Amino acid sequence: MECAQLVIKNANYYTAGTFLQGDIVIVDGKIVAIIASGRYSGNFIAERVIDASGYTVLPGLIDSHVHFREPGHTEREDFFSGSCAAAAGGFTAYRVMPNVNPPPFDTAHLNDCVILAEQKSIVDFMILAAAGFDNKQNFSQLLNAGVVGFKTFLQPPPVGKEQEFFGLTAADDGELFLMLQAGAASNGRFYFHAENHQLIKALEKYLHVTGQEDNSFHYQSHAAVAEIESVATVLNFAKATGCKIGFVHITLPESCELIKQARGQGVDVVTETCFHYLLFDNSYIDRFGPYAKCNPPLRDQAAREGLWHYLFDGTIDMIGSDHAPFTVTEKAIDPKQGIWQAPSGIPAIEVMLPLMLDQVAQGRLKLADIARLFSENTAKAHGLYPRKGCIDLGSDGDFTIVDTGSRQKISREKMYTKARDINIMFEGMETTGMPVYTIVRGRVVMDHGQVDKNARGWGNHLRPEIIC
Ligand SMILES: [Zn+2]
Repeated sequence: MECAQLVIKNANYYTAGTFLQGDIVIVDGKIVAIIASGRYSGNFIAERVIDASGYTVLPGLIDSHVHFREPGHTEREDFFSGSCAAAAGGFTAYRVMPNVNPPPFDTAHLNDCVILAEQKSIVDFMILAAAGFDNKQNFSQLLNAGVVGFKTFLQPPPVGKEQEFFGLTAADDGELFLMLQAGAASNGRFYFHAENHQLIKALEKYLHVTGQEDNSFHYQSHAAVAEIESVATVLNFAKATGCKIGFVHITLPESCELIKQARGQGVDVVTETCFHYLLFDNSYIDRFGPYAKCNPPLRDQAAREGLWHYLFDGTIDMIGSDHAPFTVTEKAIDPKQGIWQAPSGIPAIEVMLPLMLDQVAQGRLKLADIARLFSENTAKAHGLYPRKGCIDLGSDGDFTIVDTGSRQKISREKMYTKARDINIMFEGMETTGMPVYTIVRGRVVMDHGQVDKNARGWGNHLRPEIIC
């Protein structure tokens, strides 16, 4: 009899677009056998057995968009608190954004980030390196060091913060074009926060002058056309240079339509949206002010509704949380000032999956869509499939086990993020469906809401196996 690290028995599990039944056996972090339900015990002695009867077993879900603030702002979050929140939220891995201080714009700074995350993260992680006009000579080296891609902000570095933003920005169209030329030569993928900065600045100025300073200031200044225009420019330049690109947190059906057309013309582009653009509209900004403030902003009802179509036609590849923690003091508005003063970001990694499972309960999504948009596609887009994003022989033993029937109320009291106290807009929402186990390479890191803090340092750096 062989010894197994873990057996998930009576599993109803997702694989390649469908659900099958069986006992899943994990040895040394890998799936070594999938046996007819109830039959594992004739072949294996298990250290731990989870009976998944009544639950659904998904491949380990990956949050494609988090800001864990380390190095630089560990008062907001760090790799330990952030990864505990990831495990609590049902995520076995995450992709961390490079706008930390200092940003990973070369291999030395990248290695500093990797070491910190390896020491502290309880789940696996991938890293987007910083890419800008100023560090284009480093792209190939960063790819060789194992990043899954790059991220760029389309704006000049804020005045006084030039060091903090070094290698993260393309200030104008000229810098962007030259950066993409270098990017094409490196064969990496370059992700963009697509909003036209000049237009936003001009609209902000106009709204100040005309005294339109209530909470709508945020979505009026970050107008829809600022995203659409920026997406169009990046797509045009990608077509001209041959650079592989991606968009993070796309919010609008018009942007999706442009991406779809460009794909048809041969542009290699990956698209992410975030759950809040699918579930919430800008009335939440009117209501919750800074606590619903994120960039791009929540859009109007028609845009929110229109985005759903592109989840199902394949234009949107993956969904992330854009978990963006701040301290209570940072988020609070000075009553003499307005919403523009508060930083943009919502720390949502612990609420995303329950809210999306609630959409499954309501019949808008299928569980297979959750597996595809939060795991399978995400692993494929980063050269990690079928090691990740897949329940099959030889894949890593990563699972998110969900209970689709249980009802609960979202409460920030239960959260692991350091930023729980700015998690105001979701408080008290009722959902049907929640993650009950998060399992990383055979190790249970979350069991019915309890995170195993002894798993600190269990997380591995995920390097792409093929460059995508
Ligand atoms: Zn972000």
